[in-house]
Amino acid sequence: MDKGLSSVLFSVRMRATMKIGNNGEELHLSGCERLVTENQVLEVVQNLLKRAEEHTRGRADMVNIQIEKIDKSNVRIVPALTVQSREFPNVSQAHADAIAFLIETGVSETAARKGLEAIEQLKTSMRGAMIYDAASGNRLDRLDMRGVRLSHMDCKDKNACLEFLKRNNMKSTKLSEALVLASKAASVENYVAELCWSDDPNYTTGYVASKKFYRRLSPMKHLESPIGGRVFFFKPNVDIKATIDFFEKEPALVDIK
Ligand code: AMP
Repeated sequence: MDKGLSSVLFSVRMRATMKIGNNGEELHLSGCERLVTENQVLEVVQNLLKRAEEHTRGRADMVNIQIEKIDKSNVRIVPALTVQSREFPNVSQAHADAIAFLIETGVSETAARKGLEAIEQLKTSMRGAMIYDAASGNRLDRLDMRGVRLSHMDCKDKNACLEFLKRNNMKSTKLSEALVLASKAASVENYVAELCWSDDPNYTTGYVASKKFYRRLSPMKHLESPIGGRVFFFKPNVDIKATIDFFEKEPALVDIK
């Protein structure tokens, strides 16, 4: 981080929704966020607006942009998880590898299967993630469709992040954004693992993560499915309120090399 220039950063968050059905029910389309210096705010707002307009799940009816000042001294620097990639001929083999990974990291087989089924059975994508007990497989968060949203996070060094994407042949920032989210989550006490696949109909790669690894798995869902989801597995003695506070409010910059 650039020392001595400014003691503040800005959290810029975008959320796009579209209206569906006769009642105009609000469907969450996309959300994205950055943690940037003051001189980057305008450009980031423009990028996020463009992104809201171009989402593959549809055109936004409402875009909400929130800008919040963050004291740099409160920002945690978090190491990035180590990326691995595996490709499979079909979804069920990728899911089997995900389950094996979760069990290896300390999630019970029951909890791993319950977490996977929870995403598979969603009728519509949630805004946030579900938190599961890694032993019993019971859901520990608020049990609603919002779920828990990680927020206030970004790459520590934007150039290193672009280099990382290039090395991984990625044109979009999906991988670095998910790696930032997974690395922030993995840094909290009592975290065990994560399971995720995207709600983007064109993006079938998902991942499992542990305190050390971020394993990309392909394909985790069928092409054109607009349903994705995230499940975090935590040790049974987790302080769920403190964890949700950390996920939602504590700023973190992830050191992607
Ligand atoms: P995405 O990989 O962005 O397509 O997200 C896949 C799923 O993860 C979404 O459908 C949400 O359920 C969940 N999700 C997206 N963003 C977040 C976030 N910031 N925090 C927690 N869960 C999220």
